[in-house]
Amino acid sequence: MHKIESSKKLKEIMSDYFVGMGVPGKKFAWCTSVGPAELLRSFGFEVYFPENHGALLGTTRTCHDFIPVAAEIGYSSDICSYLTSDIGSYISKNTPLMKHYGLEGVPKPDILVYNTNQCREVQDWFTYFAREFNCPIVGIQSPRYLDLVKKEDIENVTSQFKALIPYCEETSGTKFDIDSFRETLKLSREATNLWKKSLETAKHIPAPISFFDSTIHMGPIVVLRGTQVAKDYYAELSNELDGYVARGSGIIEKEQIRVYWEGMPIWGKLRYMSDLFSNNNAAVVASTYCNSWVFDAFDETNPFESSALAYSSIFINRSENVKTEMMIKLIEEYKIDGVVFHDSKTCFNNTNSRFGMPQRLKESTSVDTLIIEGDLCDLRFFSEAQTTTKIETFIEQMK
Ligand code: SF4
Repeated sequence: MHKIESSKKLKEIMSDYFVGMGVPGKKFAWCTSVGPAELLRSFGFEVYFPENHGALLGTTRTCHDFIPVAAEIGYSSDICSYLTSDIGSYISKNTPLMKHYGLEGVPKPDILVYNTNQCREVQDWFTYFAREFNCPIVGIQSPRYLDLVKKEDIENVTSQFKALIPYCEETSGTKFDIDSFRETLKLSREATNLWKKSLETAKHIPAPISFFDSTIHMGPIVVLRGTQVAKDYYAELSNELDGYVARGSGIIEKEQIRVYWEGMPIWGKLRYMSDLFSNNNAAVVASTYCNSWVFDAFDETNPFESSALAYSSIFINRSENVKTEMMIKLIEEYKIDGVVFHDSKTCFNNTNSRFGMPQRLKESTSVDTLIIEGDLCDLRFFSEAQTTTKIETFIEQMK
């Protein structure tokens, strides 16, 4: 059993990223978490991710002060709690970024850029801020729920990527440079491959990293992909994890059961969840969520088309059949005993238990499945007592 040492480096990197936002004179692009970050970075923008801020509001549980504030202006507390927390935080002029990183608030956007490959909510969310800041908003309307990613889908998204360029040139004051885009994409692919390698160390028994650690260590692949910093970080993390694999050291003391977590994390309950599983000798070794930032299709020799392919192929943007196939593959590779589906009340987009998938998975793999109710941020939808009983019984049945 070990603690992951790279966590210290991670803290420094994330702190530098946020503190750096307070340095005057920077141009900011706000981007969705699986939006065209590489293209934006190639124009020299600092890239800020409101979903990452939403997760911070969830982790710090400050979201509960902010969700009702957004509800007062008509953003229902039944919709995405990242969105409602973030808008409520903005209206309240309060964010943990002030206390933790000395910022005056979230950075003011020069441009807002979204991709609906994950959900339509991001468009409405960014549109609110476009009105507030009176700044340009542009986006990619991705073809959704794809079975196959067809040639015409790639052409469609590629042309939408290219259509962003004039807006980025105007707001950044920088001419588009294909070599800069190629270089950023290359760095992003290298980082993403190292992140994938880090996650894949959990195929080993015992697993050297759990889903709960990965939700923290994924920070740089979300907010800093396309930078040398992210690449170096994941080289360090994967080296460290390789060392634990070589020594046979696991992240929990006694690994008896291996679990797959499907759906969003419950940000305000990460520690509780992590302890609950490890106290019952169950390691949560694989997830859909953390794998969502593996973009191995990026190819700097073909930057637009490969970006379109990578961002259109993500799990959340696929048909039920493809999602099921992707999960079956991971269940086999990670030697999974059971799958926990998180039915996240304010994000149906990233909840996959409502169309019969748990039953289909059980039929085709014979793994046990469990559905727990909760939410990414809003803990009104979560019962600790009920969840503890459900998970403990589930693990007990698999032993
Ligand atoms: S995918 Fe879900 S959690 Fe993420 S922004 Fe969309 S609605 Fe919110």
